[in-house]
Amino acid sequence: MEETRKKSIKGIKIRSLNLIMLSVSCILYILLIFATIQSMQRYEAMVSTTNDHIACEEITSLVANGSNYLTEQVRLYTMTFDTQHMDNYFTEAYTTQRRDTALEQLQNYHIDNQAYDFLSTALDNSNQLMAREVYAMKLVSIAQEYDSSSLHEDIQNARLTKEDQGLSPEEMIEKARDMVFGTVYQESKALIMENISYFVDSVIEYTQQNQTESSEVLKHTLLRQLILISILFVENLIVFFLIVRLIINPLQIYVKNIKEDKRLEFVGSYEFKYLALTYNNIFELNAANELSLRHQAEHDPLTGLINRGAFDHLKQLFAANKNPLALLIIDVDKFKLVNDGYGHEMGDRVLQNVARLLEENFRSTDYPARIGGDEFAVIMTDLAANPRDLVISKITAINETLLHPSDDMPRVSLSVGAAYSENGFTDDLYKKADSALYQVKEHGRCGCRFYEKDADKKA
Ligand code: GH3
Ligand code: MG
Repeated sequence: MEETRKKSIKGIKIRSLNLIMLSVSCILYILLIFATIQSMQRYEAMVSTTNDHIACEEITSLVANGSNYLTEQVRLYTMTFDTQHMDNYFTEAYTTQRRDTALEQLQNYHIDNQAYDFLSTALDNSNQLMAREVYAMKLVSIAQEYDSSSLHEDIQNARLTKEDQGLSPEEMIEKARDMVFGTVYQESKALIMENISYFVDSVIEYTQQNQTESSEVLKHTLLRQLILISILFVENLIVFFLIVRLIINPLQIYVKNIKEDKRLEFVGSYEFKYLALTYNNIFELNAANELSLRHQAEHDPLTGLINRGAFDHLKQLFAANKNPLALLIIDVDKFKLVNDGYGHEMGDRVLQNVARLLEENFRSTDYPARIGGDEFAVIMTDLAANPRDLVISKITAINETLLHPSDDMPRVSLSVGAAYSENGFTDDLYKKADSALYQVKEHGRCGCRFYEKDADKKA
């Protein structure tokens, strides 16, 4: 019965709830960590693309500056014939090598192949232009009759065409200047610059594309983070609400119930309901035990009437409350003979019978009690006047019944002494009733007398 009631308890289990919330939180936090790592990676990718872009611009200017420097030096040489410019030219071409360095550096950055091709073509064009420039410088050197052994080996190796060998020094200089200032040279130079500008455009386009992609992904990742944080916030609110509803509120209610010595209300989580059911069972058992103990302490086990202790307690209660009452002291006549003649068990049955008759003949506002072996008492309360005649007729009826038993019970009778007080249970009331009883016993037993002041004298 108890187990089925416990099994039928419905409610959320804190343990299960805790497990669910923990799992949900773990999943959400893992997703959040994952999204944060992604944002960091995207951010780094964007920074790196920007850095690549800046680096590529520097590289571009290296190629352009290198190429322009060569042009400048070759032109100055054809104009001033100062060999220093020729030295500067070859230092740039073979030692400083700004253009080659730039192309090498470019390998370290993320650019698309097309962009790389543009710059590489620009460098090829620049190298092709070098042959023309070296030829022009050779023409000038011959025209100026410089010692060929002191010149750079490229100059030494360059061979003049037959046609040019026949030119005068002025014509050679004229031709050299034309070669580095003329339309063909300008066009080749323009082609180099064009390729460099294509390269720059490609890099810009590539960077923009990369940044757009990265910023899109970053935006999505941040949005995901925002959603996850919002869900976590809502989850926290739900957990807080559930803790209040399932744990804190029930605890407060239970503390209040216990303070007020009440049963526990059936509220909160499954565990609290289980606790309430168990507590309430113990509570009821305790109350029942207490009631039973009190009943045992106040009642006579043989007759079920209130015992001497409870009777004394009633005496005190009715002494304090000053309402009219009557006290009857009842003794079974010659009871010893019953025990002796019929046995102790029959004696017990007689006592039980007397008790039952007293309960039946008196009202619920009266208190019949067993105050000794074969001695009983009745406190009659709620009286309008002296109940003398009523009591006598009741006792007469009881004696009538006891003297004419319908079964195997022995014939017995009662002697009853009574006293009336208008002022509650006075100190001498018991004495008065007892003295009335004595009178009855003295005058042949089986009867009832009320205490009267001059009864003894009358007798
Ligand atoms: P009297 O008319 O003068 O009262 O004579 P009596 O024989 O009744 O004398 P008394 O009242 O003194 O005797 C009471 C007897 O009741 C004595 C005792 O053995 C017996 N008794 C006391 N308690 C019980 C009980 O619980 N059961 C039974 N069977 N007998 C009891
Ligand atoms: Mg007796």
